[in-house]
Amino acid sequence: MVRDLSLSRIRQGLRDKEFSSREITQAYLDRIEQLDPGLNSFTQAFREAALAAADAADQRLASGDARPLEGVPIAHKDILATTEGQTTCGSKMLAGYRSPFDATVVDRLADAGAVVVGKTNMDEFAMGSSNETSYFGPVTNPWGTNAVPGGSSGGSAAAVAARLAAGATGTDTGGSIRQPAALCGITGLKPTYGRCSRYGLVAFASSLDQPGPMAQTAEDCAHMLGAMAGHDERDSTSVARPVDDYTGGLEGKLAGKVIGVPAEFFTQGLAPDVQRAVEAALDQYRDLGAEVREIQLPHYPYAIPTYQVIAAAEASSNLARFDGVRYTHRAENPESLIDMYESTRAEGFGSEVQRRVMVGTFVLSAGYYDAYYLKAQKVRTRIRDDFAAAFEEVDLIAGPTSPTAAFGIGEKATDPVAMYLSDLYTTAANLAGVPGISFPCGFSENGLPVGMHLMANFFREDLLLNAAHRYQQVTDWHARVPEGV
Ligand code: GLN
Repeated sequence: MVRDLSLSRIRQGLRDKEFSSREITQAYLDRIEQLDPGLNSFTQAFREAALAAADAADQRLASGDARPLEGVPIAHKDILATTEGQTTCGSKMLAGYRSPFDATVVDRLADAGAVVVGKTNMDEFAMGSSNETSYFGPVTNPWGTNAVPGGSSGGSAAAVAARLAAGATGTDTGGSIRQPAALCGITGLKPTYGRCSRYGLVAFASSLDQPGPMAQTAEDCAHMLGAMAGHDERDSTSVARPVDDYTGGLEGKLAGKVIGVPAEFFTQGLAPDVQRAVEAALDQYRDLGAEVREIQLPHYPYAIPTYQVIAAAEASSNLARFDGVRYTHRAENPESLIDMYESTRAEGFGSEVQRRVMVGTFVLSAGYYDAYYLKAQKVRTRIRDDFAAAFEEVDLIAGPTSPTAAFGIGEKATDPVAMYLSDLYTTAANLAGVPGISFPCGFSENGLPVGMHLMANFFREDLLLNAAHRYQQVTDWHARVPEGV
């Protein structure tokens, strides 16, 4: 029954008493049981807790005091701290870890009435673009059994695409909401840095990390973001600024809006079938009344190396806390304290995490700090300045989300640089701090989803959701369901 219903539709149906939250929640739990063994998109399902929350939601719905997402079943990326179940970050280091508190966005979604069906698989500590670095095994893309779902929020993307939850949280440090959304044919939004609280989001790169919504449609994401966003005194980088009415702004006309397309986007590395789908989407935007014009983002080509230096530097510092003393995993029978630290980290972290920690330690070390870390910070400022100049002229910046549709499991696993290039179009938004959205705009030659990427100026999530929603009113890519689910 839930297979053909979006989050917004479920939300409305609950309010209209077409069905109960218990029925809907049970339907998702049944689907998880039936389909997830083949997908591996969840690290845990919360059967009892979800049904109990659904019953409580049904009471509120019956008594007429329903909150914005009352009774709507969602999932959380397993990087967000939850008191229910474990918080693993897809790592052996945290397998079995139970958080004593809930992340702020987890709290807020609960306060909005959402029901949590479980936690989703992810690349270890959110490092990856394919979900293959998870200690709990890779996730399969519901659109093709040998294809990756993208990463690092690949579990959330696959779960939404396979209709195992109405929506899911993700986190995006360099593309981890948008790239898996593109590869799984769903909609995902990375908010402006500071729009959603990072409290309880296990830190990867603190100056880039941002939680956000993933769901079938822009309207669904608007409902989720409205609940998630807002100032939090427990995160000093969260911004004290009123939350926009995201659903209220969805219908705005696009006539007069200017969409900039950076010349730098259509270069080598972009698959022809992805390019075709994005160009067709731009035509659609012209039909909707927007003006599309070429712009320049001259420092865009430096985004990936800049991101890799900064993200690794911050990760090496953030992950220092996993020392065998404070958290779950500890090596057995160490010979000394140093041996305990070293063995714990060698056993607890997978190779991608170790690689990032080593690169980060290197670029921060005395002899190399100026050459790498400081240089990267300077380029970051240039990238940000490019965006500021572009947004003087245009309302939105458009392009592909990912240079290719989903690639095969194992295809890039042994080539980290090829894997990093998956983030070609997404990392710059994190470096600048601006918001970005990915939504389905067609299919590749072999039938896998293609995503369109829009970026907007700081705090213009309303415009991103509006533009994606208008497009979804005249297309049906977002409504397609993979065969076999
Ligand atoms: N794929 C990128 C990386 O591997 C981005 C990850 C993310 O956004 N968390 O670092």
